[in-house]
Amino acid sequence: MTKTISSNIGYPRIGEKREWKRALEKFWNGDSSEEELLAETTKLRLNDLKKQQDLGVDLIPVGDFSLYDHVLDTSFMFGVIPERYGYEGGKVDLSTYFAIARGEKEAVASEMTKWFNTNYHYIVPELNHAKPTVKENRPLAFYQEAKEKLGIDGKPVVLGPVTYLKLSKGFDEKDFPQLLKTFTALYIEVLKELEEAGARWVQIDEPIFVTELSAADIELARQAYDEIHQAVPKLKIILQTYFEAVTDYEKVVEFPVAAIGLDFVHGDSLSLIQKHGFPKGKVLAAGIVDGRNVWRADLSEKFSLLEEIQKYVDSDHIIVQPSSSLLHVPVTKASEEQIDPIILGGISFADEKLQEIVALAKGLRVGKAQIQKALDIASAELELLNNSPYRTNKQVKESLATLTDADVQRTSTFDIRLEKQRQRLNLPLLPTTTIGSLPQTSEVRQTRTKWRKKEITNETYEQFIKDSIQKWIKIQEEIDIDVLVHGEFERTDMVEYFGEKLNGFGVTQFGWVQSYGSRCVKPPLIFGDVSFDKPMTLKESVYAQSLTERPVKGMLTGPVTILNWSFVHDDVPRFTVLNQIALALREEIEVLEENGIKIIQVDEPALREGLPLAADKKQTYLDAAVYAFKLATASVEDDTQIHTHMCYSDFNKIFDAIDGLDADVISIETSRSHGELVSTFEENTYKKEIGLGVYDIHSPRIPSEAEIEQNITRALATISPKQFWINPDCGLKTRKEDETIGALKVMVKAAKKVRETVLATVK
Ligand code: GLN
Ligand code: ZN
Repeated sequence: MTKTISSNIGYPRIGEKREWKRALEKFWNGDSSEEELLAETTKLRLNDLKKQQDLGVDLIPVGDFSLYDHVLDTSFMFGVIPERYGYEGGKVDLSTYFAIARGEKEAVASEMTKWFNTNYHYIVPELNHAKPTVKENRPLAFYQEAKEKLGIDGKPVVLGPVTYLKLSKGFDEKDFPQLLKTFTALYIEVLKELEEAGARWVQIDEPIFVTELSAADIELARQAYDEIHQAVPKLKIILQTYFEAVTDYEKVVEFPVAAIGLDFVHGDSLSLIQKHGFPKGKVLAAGIVDGRNVWRADLSEKFSLLEEIQKYVDSDHIIVQPSSSLLHVPVTKASEEQIDPIILGGISFADEKLQEIVALAKGLRVGKAQIQKALDIASAELELLNNSPYRTNKQVKESLATLTDADVQRTSTFDIRLEKQRQRLNLPLLPTTTIGSLPQTSEVRQTRTKWRKKEITNETYEQFIKDSIQKWIKIQEEIDIDVLVHGEFERTDMVEYFGEKLNGFGVTQFGWVQSYGSRCVKPPLIFGDVSFDKPMTLKESVYAQSLTERPVKGMLTGPVTILNWSFVHDDVPRFTVLNQIALALREEIEVLEENGIKIIQVDEPALREGLPLAADKKQTYLDAAVYAFKLATASVEDDTQIHTHMCYSDFNKIFDAIDGLDADVISIETSRSHGELVSTFEENTYKKEIGLGVYDIHSPRIPSEAEIEQNITRALATISPKQFWINPDCGLKTRKEDETIGALKVMVKAAKKVRETVLATVK
């Protein structure tokens, strides 16, 4: 390098208007052919590359595109295909690819789990029985495509071997060294072809280095990169980390690679450089524009940061880039027409972030004076927003300041509450329920769109919601579920719905980000102080309850999840915003209770994923999460039952915090990793009530009664039937109606069968 350059780590896959999602779903529904799917996604991909080229990004990532998930792509590249798909070598095809991701006929899908501390989900590689070989050189194909079609000399992106293996399952820890050797050889094959094809830079993503690895593993990793370096000496490898500062900084920066990518936004990489320096001759890929949040960068501040970095690294050895892939932010703010200009002025999505990066790199190259205008505009727009009434609500600030310990404690202990709740609810042993949402059919979605476009009146829309609730209360009664839900038909998204109703929040029109597969979420913007405005869920809950004798759960999204799944303004501490949300929800819960709702579920699916990656930040986060949950829920009477729901499998690490929430009943998503979760109960004693998901809702496949029964029985080996609830492992909104009814019938049947067996043994 002879001068500072700009770079991107990864670009969103979904398109400005979610064209990607539509193309995929059309194909899955059998409405388009494989050729059509590939043609459409190729068009999209080239368009996105062209945009980055036009924005002036020097190093454009290629191969960051995916038809589902980049971890699954890596598995596919190396032929890591679980045995149950009957793959016998030879060419692997797209139907197998989607089958692994989504499940198919008799073959259950691979486990899906959250990508580090994000809301992006990857498909967990299963290495059991795998005989890895290079099946297809994906990055090479993408490199050549960009070169031929657009004249872009791209930067191929691959998920690194250490991270890939650490995220995989199906092998013994003692086999890690051998596996790493095997995979390193395969990576070398891929990289050699890239080198031959003329690639200059390659980005190898190793976010695992921001977590804690043993000294032995770091040493093995160093050896792997040594081998890679020997094999492809001309290739300039960027060892890319993100989401935190590198844990073993001193060792990792010495790895024999051309460049190290560090995150200066979500980790204190600056202190590391100041303390330990940065190796001479190495390039620093400096992630200084937030790749995970949507607020406009204060360019002057960022420029000063770069100047500080320059004290340790020469400017011709600096690459300016986002802190992580831009996969985690929406594509562009250009189409947003309904956001207050004061707020919009403070926002940057992917395209705008790339503009910031290009400007900053230019500043380093040609001097600050040349970009002064851009710096001034950014400061002025940010100042306007910071001084606006949105961010200066005194009343909210005071309510938080006057809280006492009593505000976050239920009146009685769990044992006492349980007794009163049992009397009031009178449920059978092993009660059945669902997690909240019921199928959002295209009719539901289309009706909402019509209402939003004002093509139908509020009354028509509300009547439609009521009819949907009524229909499904009846269905649930017929299936004989014990605790019903209203179905969440009025919600597009569990966070956005609240975002539209609380003060301090805003929603975007096109601010989508990928969550898993084709599923995208549209996180609200928390741009100012949060407070309760008027009841948000009351109408639907009360209506649903009026239709049945059985209890219907009130359904809210919890404070931690609202925080973690929103784009939160970054000018105040996150936990302040968290407590503001909790106080607003507390008012909602009190209103539900006053109106006769006996069970209130406060979902916290995002609690685990928000856990900081750095060891020393974890406890502070968990304490704040527990505090906020209790602040939201603790004011209810003893006989009002508080439920919570979480979506992840890694329960063990946060067991104490979950217990600390003091929720009466918790349901957890588990069915793609049932055994592992159940085993945590052998080591911990959990006294409250619990429902472990007994079937996987992420797959369209209807489970068999035997499977569900087995899942229940397995759980009952460690959890008392008196504590156990039976439910699917997550909300059902993404499933079709017949799939849902079919699966729930099987679930209730299995529950009844086990109930009989248990009752017989008790007698
Ligand atoms: N109540 C929500 C639903 O059923 C919970 C969703 C979730 O856990 N992500 O859709
Ligand atoms: Zn869930």
